[in-house]
Amino acid sequence: MSGKKAFYAAAVTAAFVFCMTLGPPPATGDVFILSDGGRIEGAVESQNRRNVMVQTKYGLVTVRRGDIEEWDEKSSPYDEYVKKKKDLKNTANGHFEMGEWCREKEFDAQAKAHFKEVLKLNPKHEKARERLGIKKITPKTTPKTTPEKKSMKPVVKKDDKVEDKKEEKAKKKKPIVERIKKKKKKKSKGGIPIPFTITASCAWDADNAWLHRFGKHIKAGSEYLFMVTRGQMYVSVVTISDQTPRSECIAENKDGIKTGRGYAWTGAGAMHVGGKVLSYTFAHEFLHLKCGIPDEYTRDSKPACPICIMSADPKAHALCDSKTHKGEPGRDCFSLLRKRFPRIREDYDAEGKECPETKVVIRDK
Ligand SMILES: [Zn+2]
Ligand SMILES: [Zn+2]
Repeated sequence: MSGKKAFYAAAVTAAFVFCMTLGPPPATGDVFILSDGGRIEGAVESQNRRNVMVQTKYGLVTVRRGDIEEWDEKSSPYDEYVKKKKDLKNTANGHFEMGEWCREKEFDAQAKAHFKEVLKLNPKHEKARERLGIKKITPKTTPKTTPEKKSMKPVVKKDDKVEDKKEEKAKKKKPIVERIKKKKKKKSKGGIPIPFTITASCAWDADNAWLHRFGKHIKAGSEYLFMVTRGQMYVSVVTISDQTPRSECIAENKDGIKTGRGYAWTGAGAMHVGGKVLSYTFAHEFLHLKCGIPDEYTRDSKPACPICIMSADPKAHALCDSKTHKGEPGRDCFSLLRKRFPRIREDYDAEGKECPETKVVIRDK
C-alpha cells in the first residue's frame, strides 16, 4: 500500500473533445487548455451548463466544461463572424452571402458549412455547388424504353447524327446524375485522431507498481485501437484507481489475460478485463463500450466476419470496412463508427502516423 494520494483538479470525463494540439494554430482568440493537454482557440459562439461552443479554424467545436482546465479570454478574428451569424437569415441567399464573406476572411471551415446550408435549402444553387467543388456529371445515355419499342411495331432507326444532337441537348437541359467530384484515390493520412478518456479500476487495494502496469496494458490497447481505426481514435487519458469496484474498465484479477467470463466482457457501462488484458481484447471491448460497435459472431459463436476483431477471430488484425465486411451490407464497423463519429473515414491510413501518448493518472488509495 502506498500512502500517496494524488489530487487532480481536472474532472476526467468520458466525453471527447476535438483535440487541436496537432493543427496549425489559428490567430488568437479565447484559449482553452483541456484536461488532456489539448488546446483550442477561437470565439465563443454560445454556451450552456454543460458545453461551450467555439468557432475555430476547424469550424464549430463543442467543448465539455468538465474538460476545461484553463480559459483565457482574448479577442478573436472569429468574434466578428459570431456577431454576424446572430443576424443571419436562414435562407439560401443569407447563407450564401455569409459563405462568401467567410471565404474572403479565409474562414474556410465556416464558409464550407454555410455553402452546405445553402444546398440544403436550395439543392440547385449553382454558385454554392461550385464553391463546394460539386460537379455535374453527365450520365451515360441508356436507351429509353418507350412504349413504341415495347409494341410489336418495327422501330424506325433514326439518323445517328440527329440522335446525337438530341442527346446533347438533353444533357444540357437536365443533368440527371450529379456527383461530388472524386478526390485522389490514394489513401489519405487522415485528420486529427479523436481522443477518448476512460476510467479504470480494481476493487482491491493494489500497489503502485500494479496500477502502473495496468496502465501500460491500457496504453498498449490504445495503440492497437489507433492502428485498427486507421489512426483515428486513441485513449488520451486513463485514470486508474484501486479500491474502486465501479469504473469504465474494471480489472477482475491481477495477472490474468482473461476474466471469469471469457477474455473480457462489456455490460452496464463497463468493460471487465483481466489485469494483463491483451491489446486486442482491450480494443474490442472499448469499441463495444464507447462506440456501440456490436460483435460479429454467428449464432454458434463462430467468427461471422473473420477479418474483423469484433468477430474475435484470433487471426483478425483489423476492423472491417465497407469493402472487407462479410455480412449485412452497411453494418461494417467503419460505417457504424461513422454514424456516431462523422469524421471517421475508411480510406485513411495510420501508416507512418504515431499514436498520441496516453496519459496515465494513478489514484492509489
Ligand atoms: Zn465482443
Ligand atoms: Zn464485419
